[in-house]
Amino acid sequence: TYTIEKVKSLIKTYPDFPQEGILFRDIFPIFQIPAAVDCLINYLAELALEEAKSAKCGKIDVVVGLDARGFLFGPSLAIKLGAKFVPIRKRGKLPGPTIKYEYQKEYGLDVLEIQSDAILPGENVLIVDDLLATGGTCGAAEKLVLNLGGRVILNQFVIELVGLGGRKSLSGKTMSVMEF
Ligand code: 5GP
Repeated sequence: TYTIEKVKSLIKTYPDFPQEGILFRDIFPIFQIPAAVDCLINYLAELALEEAKSAKCGKIDVVVGLDARGFLFGPSLAIKLGAKFVPIRKRGKLPGPTIKYEYQKEYGLDVLEIQSDAILPGENVLIVDDLLATGGTCGAAEKLVLNLGGRVILNQFVIELVGLGGRKSLSGKTMSVMEF
């Protein structure tokens, strides 16, 4: 069986991608090994169940995945938790009524959207993404969830770039599987 330590060793690091000065962490090698994916999803699900228990919120109702690599983990995690999966996407990708949230990126503004009927007031929400850097993306996602009346029980990341201090800009409880 696979261990989280072994999963961590699969992360590949690329200097100067997609721009000079950026050390890019690539999570896709994990997906070449089914046992590694299974180990990681089980681990995320265990942490989420523990958190739901200690928050005394009952169950997680919704797993929200962030565009685009959050979609790799969200649906599998949602199945394990018996929750629905809902995407938060970049501007212009979702049909029908949506609400938007504008946030500051390194270069200029970006917009995230969620479908207006995707979360019901009072639902318990877990947000998942592959990586936490500055926290700008997840912070905007939290706002969308809160604006629909959801409760952010947990923000989960596979990787956290701890030096950037991104968790400080998040209002919900935050946990990551591995730190770089
Ligand atoms: P933040 O908004 O926290 O600064 O950036 C996080 C977002 O950028 C996430 O959606 C994540 O997918 C992406 N991201 C930033 N740096 C990296 C990286 O080194 N590797 C991967 N896989 N994603 C990154």
